[in-house]
Amino acid sequence: MFALVPALHVQLASSHRETLAERMRDAVAVFFAAPEQIRNRDVHHDYRQESDFFYLTGFEEPESVLVVAPHRAVGDRTAIFLRKRDLEAEVWDGERMGVERAPEALGVDKAFEFKSLATELPKWLAGARRLYFSLGRNAEDDEVVVAAMRAARMQRKTGAETPGDLLDPEDLLHEQRLIKSPEAIASMRRAATLANIGHRKAMAVSRPGVFEFQLQAAMEYEWGVRGARRTAYSSIVGSGPNACVLHYRSNARQMEAGDLVLIDAGCEVDYFASDVTRTFPVSGKFTEPQRRLYALVLAAQKAGIARCRSGYSFEQVHEATVRVLTEGLVELGLLIGPVEDRIKDEGFKRYYMHRTSHWLGMDVHDVGRYYVGGTSRALEPGMTLTVEPGLYISSRDQLAPEEYRGIGIRIEDDVLVTDGAPDVLSAAIPKEIDDLEALIGTEALSM
Ligand code: MG
Ligand code: MG
Repeated sequence: MFALVPALHVQLASSHRETLAERMRDAVAVFFAAPEQIRNRDVHHDYRQESDFFYLTGFEEPESVLVVAPHRAVGDRTAIFLRKRDLEAEVWDGERMGVERAPEALGVDKAFEFKSLATELPKWLAGARRLYFSLGRNAEDDEVVVAAMRAARMQRKTGAETPGDLLDPEDLLHEQRLIKSPEAIASMRRAATLANIGHRKAMAVSRPGVFEFQLQAAMEYEWGVRGARRTAYSSIVGSGPNACVLHYRSNARQMEAGDLVLIDAGCEVDYFASDVTRTFPVSGKFTEPQRRLYALVLAAQKAGIARCRSGYSFEQVHEATVRVLTEGLVELGLLIGPVEDRIKDEGFKRYYMHRTSHWLGMDVHDVGRYYVGGTSRALEPGMTLTVEPGLYISSRDQLAPEEYRGIGIRIEDDVLVTDGAPDVLSAAIPKEIDDLEALIGTEALSM
């Protein structure tokens, strides 16, 4: 087996391709690898393979394309296009798999040089009635596929069948990815376990005077040394007023006594993400107003998690958190009741402006439909979602009681839907007030 592609990834990808092929019937599917991205001048961003492509190949090189064509003869149904070996380039950028080794190493029928895509692809489309391709992700890829469809259509004169319908792979592949396999769940469990270690470290080294990015570094170090190759997304470490900035990313502020700090961060293990948020007092003790709001968000989060079961819909998880939050906001004087009216007119959005959940998987906001036939989707065993209610009271909010202004809180866990009780993958990460207060500041930040 080719050393650069772990056998497990190849094996899983083969079985994913087989499942997809069975469901495609008379269609052909084309998947492109992620393009490389320039960071600045001649420096690239770290490369991370496109999730669909990795799911179906286990292959991490750019300039690659997978074709799945179950309408063709046995032994001629899958093709990979990839970069050819180039010993000179490999001196600089590392070993490439190359065309010769690809069929055996990746378990595909045929391999071609990436550069021959324009001439070869029309042949693979011929004979299929429908084409699965994600139009609109990348203009260059779109152009290649549209040209191949045009070229294939030219063959119609000869009586050949060519794809007339273009379909989004979401209909098949993303439904497949939505229900997690035992292997996927194992990776997600590992990602959540590492998230636990990292978040605990950030809590332990937190104290006034420490910069947000130092908490980030302490947390991400734990992930790296334990085998997570990368974060699942850019870590958010927002202290004080920054906790109210939903997509805060600069992580540059020096934390002060009396602040809360909100950390929304997760790592990636075998291309599967964890996505966890914890909010805690920088110096180890909640103030009274902070404690009241925190307890409210925690209660809302638990109400949401309790609905992560078969029989509830995705939307009902959100409804549970909205109800608890709105009741609490009225009780604390942040909203004026009645509660039913504030739910109906969405008055709660003043302090809770985002949704409660998203699918979680290879992509942190994972694929899969949220609505089926116009109604919110029923939860099923094997689905994984986050539950992440929050409250964000702007420091500029003149209507809010002064003691609450500038407080931002979110609590987020990763939940697997099972046949029975919700399985909270990130359950080990402290979120009870006593547990947090006992852990914060217990370690020095080593420098
Ligand atoms: Mg998050
Ligand atoms: Mg999330």
